[in-house]
Amino acid sequence: MSQQCIDPIVGKILAGWRYDISGLAPEMRGDYENHFASCEHCRSRQQIHRIIDVGLIVLASVSAGVFLLAFGVIRYLGPRHALLLEIAALAGFALSALIWLGVAVATPAPVTMLDAAKQGARRVHDKLPEEIRQRLPEELRIKITGT
Ligand SMILES: [Zn+2]
Repeated sequence: MSQQCIDPIVGKILAGWRYDISGLAPEMRGDYENHFASCEHCRSRQQIHRIIDVGLIVLASVSAGVFLLAFGVIRYLGPRHALLLEIAALAGFALSALIWLGVAVATPAPVTMLDAAKQGARRVHDKLPEEIRQRLPEELRIKITGT
């Protein structure tokens, strides 16, 4: 756990980007990809940051869902001060949605989740019996396996 970065100058740049190089042009990415490949310190940091990103998205989604549910319950039960509570619930929902959007735009969380989904799909695909795999549409197979 006390691993040091093998190239602190590159490590510092990467830290400034929160270890996200998904926005870089492919031809600029090579050096940093090499660094990740050989530097365990930065690799583990990158993983932590991506977990945080996805965690924030999940949290914002859950929070938005809870506020929406609260709004529905208030509507259904119609308690006193219903309007005030409804406004509060909608404001909470709007704030959650805003945080969700902010995280989705500012972090590579969508890319991370898409990658995870692709990996999951590939695992399922590899477990399918051969005859079913053959029946999958060609485009879908290319999308899943990349070949
Ligand atoms: Zn490093």
